[in-house]
Amino acid sequence: MIIVMEEGASKEQVEHVLEHTIGLGFQPHPIYGEERVVIGAIGSDRGKSKLESLAVQPGVEAVTPILKPYKLVSRELKDAPSVVDVDGVEIGGKTFAMMAGPCSVEGREQIMSCAEAVKKEGGQFLRGGAFKPRTSPYAFQGMAEEGLQLMKEAKDRFGLRIVTEVMTVRDIELIARYADMFQIGARNMANFSLLKEIGQAGLPVLLKRGMSATMEEWLMSAEYIASEGNNRVVLCERGIRTFETYTRNTLDLSVIPAMRERTHLPIIIDPSHGTGVRAYVPSMAAAAVAAGANGLMIEIHQNPEVAFSDGAQSLEFPAYSEMMDTVRQYLEVAGKSL
Ligand code: PEP
Ligand code: MN
Repeated sequence: MIIVMEEGASKEQVEHVLEHTIGLGFQPHPIYGEERVVIGAIGSDRGKSKLESLAVQPGVEAVTPILKPYKLVSRELKDAPSVVDVDGVEIGGKTFAMMAGPCSVEGREQIMSCAEAVKKEGGQFLRGGAFKPRTSPYAFQGMAEEGLQLMKEAKDRFGLRIVTEVMTVRDIELIARYADMFQIGARNMANFSLLKEIGQAGLPVLLKRGMSATMEEWLMSAEYIASEGNNRVVLCERGIRTFETYTRNTLDLSVIPAMRERTHLPIIIDPSHGTGVRAYVPSMAAAAVAAGANGLMIEIHQNPEVAFSDGAQSLEFPAYSEMMDTVRQYLEVAGKSL
C-alpha cells in the first residue's frame, strides 16, 4: 500500500504514521520527495484493510494499493527516477556510468592495463570477475581473493570504482572488503536467498537480468533486494536466450523504455554478453545510449585471443577507444555525460 502524506505534513505526523504502520505489522519505506512524503507499507496482502484505516490520520492525504507485484521498485510508489550513489559516482540522472574491464581478472599486468584504458576513456568503474560463474566446472573459476586485491590495487592507482560478481552468501563479507558495488550475475538473478543477504550487505547492487527471465521476474528480484532495505539497485540488461543463434544472446534493448514505465531504478546495458560478438558491441553500445540507458558495461582485454574467458566478445583497447568516441557523441545528444 502507498500512504501519501499531505504536502506540508509535519515531521511528527510522518513519524506517527510510520509507527502506526509498524504497529499494524507492516514495514514502512518512506520516500522523502521535494513536495511530500510517500510511504510504501510492505507486508502481507491480507492485512491491507487495516492499513486503509490510516487514511483518517492527521497529515495523511490518501492510502492506495500498489497494483503491481513489485512495490518498492515500482513507479507507482516513486515516480521520479532514482539516482544510485556508488562511492560518490552517481548512476542515473545526467551522469552516464561507464563500466569496463576484463571478464576475469587474470593477473596484475592485465588488470592494470585494462584499468588504464577505462580511465583514459573517462570511465568511472572497473569491472572484473574474481569469482566466475562458468558453465563448465573445469573452466577457469577466477582468482578469488587475489583477484580482488589486484582490482583494489588498480582502483587505488587509477581512481576507479570496483564492480565485481558475488555468487554465494559465503563470499559477501570478503567481497565487500574490496568492492564498491556487487554484481549479481544472470545465473543468480533468481537466487532469492543470495538476494536477501545482498539486500542487507550495505553496498549498491548491479542486478543482471537472468537469461530466461521476464521483465517482471527481474523486477521481482530487484524487489527482493529493496525489501531488505537496500534500494541502491541498478538493473543490467545482458541479453536473453531466444531461438536465434547468430549472437550469444539476444540483446533486448526495448526493455529500456519498458522498464522506464515500470520502475524508477536506473538501467545499464551490457552489449558484450548481449551479443557475444566483438564486432557487434560498438553498434549496440551506441544504440543503448540512444534508447536512454544510464550506463554501459563493456568487456575489454589487451589481447582477447588469450583471454581466460569471453575473449570473443572482448574489445581490444583501440576498438574500445573508437567505440567511446562514438558513445560520447551520442551522449551529447542525450544530454548526458560521463
Ligand atoms: C560477466 O559479467 O562476466 C558475466 C558472467 O555476466 P552474466 O552474468 O551476464 O553472464
Ligand atoms: Mn564475461
